Amino acid sequence: MNNKNQTKYIFVTGGVVSSLGKGVASASLALILKWHGFKVAIQKFDPYLNVDAGTMNPFQHGEVFVTDDGAETDLDLGHYERFLDINMSVLNCTTTGQIYNEVIQKERNGNYLGATVQVIPHITDAIKNKISRLSKSENYDFIITEIGGTIGDIESLPFLEAIRQFTMEVGKKNAINIHVTLVPFLKFAGELKTKPTQHSVKNMQELGIQPDILICRSECNLSLDLKKKISLFCNIETEDVIGGYDVLSSYEVPLALYEEKIVDRILEKSNLSSKKISTKEISNWKKFISNLHSEKKIKIAICGKYTSTPDAYKSIVEAFVHAGSANKIKVDLVWIDAEDVEKYGPKKYLENVCGILIPGGFGERGIEGKIFAIQYARENKIPFLGICLGLQTAVIEFARNVCKLKNANSSEFKNSQYNVIHLIDSQKKINSKGGTMRLGSSEIKIEKNSLAYSIYKSSKIFERHRHRYEVNNKFRKMFAINGLKISGVYEKNNLVEIIELLNHPFFIAGQFHCELKSRAMKPHPLFFEFVKASLQFEKNKK
Ligand code: GLN
Repeated sequence: MNNKNQTKYIFVTGGVVSSLGKGVASASLALILKWHGFKVAIQKFDPYLNVDAGTMNPFQHGEVFVTDDGAETDLDLGHYERFLDINMSVLNCTTTGQIYNEVIQKERNGNYLGATVQVIPHITDAIKNKISRLSKSENYDFIITEIGGTIGDIESLPFLEAIRQFTMEVGKKNAINIHVTLVPFLKFAGELKTKPTQHSVKNMQELGIQPDILICRSECNLSLDLKKKISLFCNIETEDVIGGYDVLSSYEVPLALYEEKIVDRILEKSNLSSKKISTKEISNWKKFISNLHSEKKIKIAICGKYTSTPDAYKSIVEAFVHAGSANKIKVDLVWIDAEDVEKYGPKKYLENVCGILIPGGFGERGIEGKIFAIQYARENKIPFLGICLGLQTAVIEFARNVCKLKNANSSEFKNSQYNVIHLIDSQKKINSKGGTMRLGSSEIKIEKNSLAYSIYKSSKIFERHRHRYEVNNKFRKMFAINGLKISGVYEKNNLVEIIELLNHPFFIAGQFHCELKSRAMKPHPLFFEFVKASLQFEKNKK
């Protein structure tokens, strides 16, 4: 066997039910290939018709993950970044909306020279171009493409047809199909059931795709007999039936798949020999995991609007996992609906927590509750971290209760004499909603003598944005006089990026989404220090 320079393509599809953790499985697979010394790229194809995830409701679709270059993408790209510690871009996320947009634009431009434009070949050709486009700029050993949705969905059909054609074109040795399925445990029968997996694989075979490897998600270990049974019915070798057992944390999935020797199976199928395994990277990962199981716990509150749907705050939850592990503590998140705080006051909900975070969000609902929670954090010297809307509401709270600007508000919610948060001119002209916010990474200058500087240890940082409204510069002087420091700015457009309170042990907020840059192996400094400050707060209380 020899290592050829041909990129190998891995497709990950899902069967039986949604929410099987295909994104985590794909990210984990990419990570273990990386541990094995391969150069890996990963991308997501989403069959929905939205051009991007930016216009989707967080209650339904979870968080919108924003890349450095400002793409509003599916939350699975967050898994990819957190596991692999590499930056995704607009090129790593494709939707049916984008594909159709592109094909229709070409048709309008007359590029098809009078042909009847059809799903096959025009849509499938456009999909195939996207499958391989990452390889145009770099020479990857593997490109993993995760297909959103579940086999059987009408919307996925063109993607599956494109995979079938692509596999034929590049050859079986260069394209591997991995199917993630469910093997449910039926309590009353007392056994694991393979039939849904058999049906899902049949479904794929009908579409002309023979899965090469199955990752069978299940509550408990699959016995050899069961693997043999799946092998028989699904036309797959027994060693290619990989157990995907439930683990306590998604970060354990890479180790579990590594133990199941999935990489050996991939290498054999693609005619590649193994490279040198990075034992250092694996042991660092194991250390990170062992810290996750720390007995010590600390309570931190997230007070927001989408608290009934924690996926809406996916990157925040994960950033706390990273920061917790690095602080050797388990962060016990307390989800608080901002509307409850509005109705019943903050004390009832916040009395026992050691830190308070106000996340990003849109719309007026729950705003007053967030402002109460911030006032409570400020007055009781509880560590506070504000993210995007969290910064904006902290500014409103300060304006109202410290600067005594009654009715201070954001023009997103109410026009008032004191719109301390407002739209800047460039945003006022915008009517369309898709992709028109301030999006992506920009450079932030940090003042040396500040909490922000002591956290970032740098006077120049980059953070990602997703918002329309900004701090009104008219009030900056008044804030400074009253003890609210503006410690980070986007100099080019003179915009406020970081605020902090002078008379408080840890009160800081950013106009950006720092959670998006936290990684398993590199916790974000703001989260790391926030957790540390919360630990200190707890110690001082005792
Ligand atoms: N709604 C606010 C804005 O558009 C905050 C957005 C956010 O928190 N992501 O400016």
